[in-house]
Amino acid sequence: MSRTALITGGTRGIGAAISIAFKEAGYKVAANYSSNHEAAKQFHKKTGIAAYSWDVADFKECAAGVAEVEKDLGGHIEILVNNAGITRDGMMHKMELEAWEAVIRTNLDSCFNMSRAVLGGMRNGRFGRIISISSINALAGQIGQTNYSAAKAGILGFTKALARECAAKGITVNAIAPGYIDTEMVRAVSEKRLKEIIAQIPVGRLGRPEEIAHSALFLASADAAFITGETLSVNGGQHME
Ligand code: NDP
Repeated sequence: MSRTALITGGTRGIGAAISIAFKEAGYKVAANYSSNHEAAKQFHKKTGIAAYSWDVADFKECAAGVAEVEKDLGGHIEILVNNAGITRDGMMHKMELEAWEAVIRTNLDSCFNMSRAVLGGMRNGRFGRIISISSINALAGQIGQTNYSAAKAGILGFTKALARECAAKGITVNAIAPGYIDTEMVRAVSEKRLKEIIAQIPVGRLGRPEEIAHSALFLASADAAFITGETLSVNGGQHME
């Protein structure tokens, strides 16, 4: 029987590539998103994957969203990909509290909100995969991204602690730290900055969303059962730990 996967922020960019890769691999997939209904509509039209709107920063909305998805898919969520994320860049000495809080809540609190909602089902089923999308900037730090780097580094500690808690229940918990991937989030930076970024990538190009998707697919597979608490860097050699 095919396993069930829920991808947050699964209708655009990296998340959309992950949703599609899981569907093509035979999973039953649901994709969450925030408020870009038009993009979600187009995504659904193109892929046939059901898209559900809720705010991953909101604990109650996550619980309700997971319950709705589980009802529709006809079983508990076995694979959760915590992918939804935002940036609100700014130098620390000028950063508004709102920019700090929005980034921490959307990128980090979301991992608690979503994982909390699916863990009961995973524990009962004695199988689960929680894969959270961190960032190269969690590992290396980035000017203008104290909020984002903190949230994404928080994911790494969260991943290790939860991996220890769940290991005996057949649940693995891992993170992926992408480098710069060709999505709208990265296309939003200036042409000049983009050239500077690419110059720092030994492979000589931005990553492709599908390259993150295939890493997630591997971590979700039975073959990756012995990998837990890890961070997989997918960054074209830009940063090596
Ligand atoms: P995009 O901006 O292209 O897509 C973001 C997705 O997340 C959208 O589906 C969006 O929904 C959803 N989303 C945003 N906020 C919320 C929310 N509060 N609740 C529910 N869904 C939400 O992002 P990317 O594909 O570029 O990035 C995906 C992940 O990868 C992020 O966590 C990002 O930080 C991380 N990452 C990206 C890198 C890159 O180079 N692109 C590099 C390293 C990490 P909607 O369509 O409604 O807005």
